[in-house]
Formats: sequence, structure tokens, C-alpha cells
Amino acid sequence: MTSKQHKRTLLKLSGEALMGDDAFGINRSTIVRMTEEVAEVVAMGVQLAIVIGGGNIFRGVAPGAQGMDRATADYMGMMATVMNSLALQDALKHRGVDARVQSALNIEQVVEPYIRPKALRYLEEGKVVIFAAGTGNPFFTTDTAAALRGAEIGAEIVLKATKVDGIYTADPKKDPSATRYHKISFDEAIGKRLEIMDATAFALCRDQKLPIRVFSINKPGALKRAVSGEDEGTLVHV
Ligand code: UDP
Repeated sequence: MTSKQHKRTLLKLSGEALMGDDAFGINRSTIVRMTEEVAEVVAMGVQLAIVIGGGNIFRGVAPGAQGMDRATADYMGMMATVMNSLALQDALKHRGVDARVQSALNIEQVVEPYIRPKALRYLEEGKVVIFAAGTGNPFFTTDTAAALRGAEIGAEIVLKATKVDGIYTADPKKDPSATRYHKISFDEAIGKRLEIMDATAFALCRDQKLPIRVFSINKPGALKRAVSGEDEGTLVHV
């Protein structure tokens, strides 16, 4: 373990990260590739917890949920994260990585409930812990769940894996002169109105002095470099 390496890390994977190039759902080769990256960092001795989104299956605010009661739609979104968590756990098991899913909603026949001391014990035992069902509350997102669980388990950093390789001065798709920040402080990000995570998640990380690193899930080896404290993507620091 190098001195810069994070010992305990919270990885936020969006549901879309599991889709690959598909329009919906879980792409098998994408999830298998992801497990390789996870296995690599676990083998380095990193204690890894994962919060997974559900956007590849259902989002409470999606057009498909229009006209629905928002809280009901959000519970469906949380159930989608449970499906993704089970798929990831299964893929990790096939790769020989021991993982446990803990859910913020009680579905005990399927997954164990979230119990913080148990989650901490799993991490100390070198098991990957996958936190399912977000915060367990409607009107929140899995970004907020990542900030919350990250703070609860005493993670040194929240790694937010996205489709973009960091935070840019402008939308690189619209503005070719946009450049990537290597580092930015919470205050500067707020001042520049950069949308990194939703406001609740961002405020929680800032208040808890929990740094965030945004990086691309599609870049091979990026997760390893991120947990190693290397200059990967963008670091949002206190
Ligand atoms: N969700 C929720 N509360 C939470 C986390 C998630 O209600 O604490 C619901 C919400 O409907 C959200 C959906 O689950 O749209 C999927 O989560 P998210 O959009 O964060 O997934 P991602 O965009 O990361 O795939």
C-alpha cells in the first residue's frame, strides 16, 4: 500500500455505468469488466464500499414515472438499485470477490438490512459492501446515499464514477475549449455553480470534509489510480 492510497473508500456507481452501450438494464460484459477493476483494488488491500444507482432501470423523476405519486416512483427507483446491487454481488462472486449487500429498505428474504457495525466488520474482513436502496427515503438520490454512507463508515473519499473523466470548466460536448479541473475546492465549485453531485450530497460531503473524486468508469485502470490517490479525473477538496 502506498502512502497516498486510500484505506477505506466509498465508490458511487451510477446505474447507467452498468448499461454499457445498451439503452436499458444491465450489460453483462460491462459489469464483468467493472468487477475486474473492483477485484484489482480489493487485492491492493483497499476497504471498498459501493453505493449503486438505479437509473438504468428506473428513476422516480423519469418521464416513465410521470403522473405517478412521486414517493411511489422513488420506492420503485430504490428497488431498481437493489436489482443492480444483486447483479454486482453475483458478478463479484463469479470473480472470486466476497461481497455483501445491505439494504436501506427491509427485504430480508433477498438482502440483509443495513446495519452499520456489521458493514464495518465486513469491510475490516476485506469484503466489499454494497449499499442498496439508497438512503431508504424518497426524494433523495443515490449520490446522497453515497455521501451519507461514506460519512457513516468513515471513508476517506467518495469516488464518483461517471461517463465523463472529471469536472470541466464547461460542457465539453458543447464547448471544445473546455478544460478539466485536476483539483477544485468545495467553495470554488459552489461559486462556479458546477454540478458535481446533487445539492444535498454535495453539502453533506462539504460539511463532513469528505473529499470527492470524479472520474470515468470507462477508462481502464481509473479506479485503481483513483484509490491510489493519483491525479485521475477531478478531486473536490475541502
Ligand atoms: N431513490 C430514492 N431515494 C434514495 C436513492 C434513490 O428515492 O435515497 C430513487 C429515486 O427515484 C432515484 C432512483 O432511486 O431516481 C435511482 O437512483 P439514482 O437516480 O440516484 O440512480 P443513478 O442516477 O445513480 O443511476
